Amino acid sequence: MAKERIMVKCRQCGRVAAADEFILDHVYKRMVCPECIKDRRAREQVHEEAKFVREEKLSRKIEDKMPQRGTMQPVAKDQSFNPRMEAVKEQPAPASNGKRRYTCSKCTFEFNYNTLTKVPSKCPYCKASVNC
Ligand SMILES: [Zn+2]
Ligand SMILES: [Zn+2]
Repeated sequence: MAKERIMVKCRQCGRVAAADEFILDHVYKRMVCPECIKDRRAREQVHEEAKFVREEKLSRKIEDKMPQRGTMQPVAKDQSFNPRMEAVKEQPAPASNGKRRYTCSKCTFEFNYNTLTKVPSKCPYCKASVNC
């Protein structure tokens, strides 16, 4: 009644399947049974999903880190924060000895100006009087 099918043992997985169902697979590089194809597809999908999950976890980890780090010692955050704070602190430091950087408004020559002794009183470059 039924058409006689030639059953062949799959060389990839050892399962027995109808010979006409065997497919030449480019990954296995041999004739494999339909189950192998299914397996491979499933595995590829798992791979894709695993990759996706990993990426999602990674981005979630970064998000997770922030509130957690906030309660703990904020190490990484401080490192990027400190140099800027110091740079801001250093620049406008009104020196107690009256010394400050003065930029000539006329020629933009930059020189040290002492606000206490008012020296130099003139721009050393263009001799314009210092107004401060
Ligand atoms: Zn197989
Ligand atoms: Zn000047």
